[in-house]
Amino acid sequence: QFSGKTALVTGSTSGIGLAIAVAFAQQGANVALNSFTNGEEDRALAAGLAEDHGVKCVYLGADMVDGDAARKLVANCMSEFGSVDILVNNAGVQHMAAIDNFPVDQWNRIIAINLNSAFHTIAAAIPLMKKAGAGRIINIASAHGLVASPFKSAYIAAKHGLVGMTKSVALEVAENGITCNAVCPGFVLTPLVEAQIPDQMALNKMNRETVEREIILARQPTRRFVTVEEIAAACTFLASEGAASITGTTLSVDGGWTAM
Ligand code: NAD
Repeated sequence: QFSGKTALVTGSTSGIGLAIAVAFAQQGANVALNSFTNGEEDRALAAGLAEDHGVKCVYLGADMVDGDAARKLVANCMSEFGSVDILVNNAGVQHMAAIDNFPVDQWNRIIAINLNSAFHTIAAAIPLMKKAGAGRIINIASAHGLVASPFKSAYIAAKHGLVGMTKSVALEVAENGITCNAVCPGFVLTPLVEAQIPDQMALNKMNRETVEREIILARQPTRRFVTVEEIAAACTFLASEGAASITGTTLSVDGGWTAM
């Protein structure tokens, strides 16, 4: 259904972002992959995706910590494909610490990647989408864009900010055929979450299985991790024609977390 359209997904060489890129490619979109690593394996990943799905796919390296680089990423996507129809702001990082101990560089890094980069890509994409008279902006927020947990103040501030910005952008472009929404995943077992498990095992003196069920999934009523494919399905839906009147809202894919 996305044949001839271009999807740009930030932070898309692993985890949720990669699954989103794959889902758009499966449905015929040309895809721009992004991360900050800019390596041979990144270009190989793009080549593989193109071959598997018969679409055009390129890797565009850009560090989302850098606002100018984020804006340039959109421009590069435009010159590569001739349009930026679907923009998915997915790049994100986490750091856990009590607020009075929160390293200032980590705070700044999280706000830059998880919030500011979306400001910059959206600012760069909107004139292009307005000209085209159509566009889809999907921000990957989190259940933590709606509710909080301790020791994640920077992440939670960034994700709440991203949800707020989503609404504001939606209002600004409502008459231009452009929608802007946020997807709010619960826990998904990606490298970002995997990295938290050993710490939680040590902290709580528990084995892996108990940490997963009793600590990480304690607030996820389904008691299973959301899959990356389930997040990708929410994104392809929001990008579809049928979702044209859905804008300025959040779509929770969190196993019931925020219903509690
Ligand atoms: P991940 O660590 O697997 O992937 C993060 C991606 O971001 C990677 O592709 C990485 O290359 C990219 N990235 C990191 N720093 C970057 C930078 N400076 N510039 C460009 N790209 C950068 O994590 P994930 O779990 O797939 O997370 C993807 C998004 O989903 C994030 O925004 C995250 O906050 C959000 N999210 C994840 C979960 C979860 O449980 N995993 C839950 C809610 C929301």
